[in-house]
Amino acid sequence: MDQDDQKEPETVSCGNSKCNSKIAPGDDHDGDESSGAKKRKKKKKKKPQKTRKRRELMSFSELPEYMKDNEYILNYYRAEWSIRDAFFSVFSFHNESLNVWTHLLGFILFVGLTVANIMHHDKFFPVDAMNPGNAARWPFFVFLGGSMFCLLSSSICHLFCCHSHNLNIFLLRIDYAGITAMIITSFFPPIYYIFQCTPRWYFIYLAAITSMGIFTIITLLTPALSSPKYRGFRALLFASMGLFGIVPAIHALVVNWGNPQRNVTLLYELGMAVFYLVGTGFFVGRVPERLKPGWFDRVGHSHQIFHVFVLLGALSHYAAALLFLDWRDHVGC
Ligand SMILES: [Zn+2]
Repeated sequence: MDQDDQKEPETVSCGNSKCNSKIAPGDDHDGDESSGAKKRKKKKKKKPQKTRKRRELMSFSELPEYMKDNEYILNYYRAEWSIRDAFFSVFSFHNESLNVWTHLLGFILFVGLTVANIMHHDKFFPVDAMNPGNAARWPFFVFLGGSMFCLLSSSICHLFCCHSHNLNIFLLRIDYAGITAMIITSFFPPIYYIFQCTPRWYFIYLAAITSMGIFTIITLLTPALSSPKYRGFRALLFASMGLFGIVPAIHALVVNWGNPQRNVTLLYELGMAVFYLVGTGFFVGRVPERLKPGWFDRVGHSHQIFHVFVLLGALSHYAAALLFLDWRDHVGC
């Protein structure tokens, strides 16, 4: 669709704020025709122009400034599309398609896992949570909720951020808030289940990570920090929240946390850390598109790889969280 469009340079291109109007060949400017005939001609021409304006994909150089995020992705951009067109572009193939679908499918997967777990577990806030078989389920569902929020807000952001500058800024902030929510809520199952019998510790750790998350969200809400220039700083904020996990992890090992499946659980958590770090590396480094600009516009660019690693990290953590819950459920306090 987009390639066909690009073969018609004579039509009007108004996809960005700096509208470049070109006169279509065939437009008559002689005054011989009657005004009725002219009107009919105008009416006939308007329709295809409108269709083209809606669906036109453009190159990086044609984008409005606020959308110029990655100069190594050269083509297949949507810019200043209506909400309706942006919504239906979920079914077409542009450079955000796989960014939308990787996290949309991830969201659907997590909804499925949540429903399956709700049907399986019913003790969200048990009164006797210290007894075997009664471990509270809420920290596990807090994590599932945070993951779903992150994956959905990311999909929505990638789908609609082409609409306007204001919506772009708003959705980027929601996206960052989603990432932060996922990181914070990921801490809930391990910290709660490991330290359930010494509530002051899980309270201190969860309060600390939640405060860090709130600080991060507030910082990211500052408009200046949403710009491409601060990509590295944002990654650093997210990474430092992730690295905070080392503190309770060492504490858990020192107090000789007695989970018989400790090594398997740690392996899953290590997997999560590696997935997140490798994903963040792609995100910051903008590899592979940096090596061959234009080759990975629609498939294989760094942000898509980052999305896949985020999903793998979340699934790895889900497996670990299930083991934590199972273990606490069996041993009690
Ligand atoms: Zn994304």
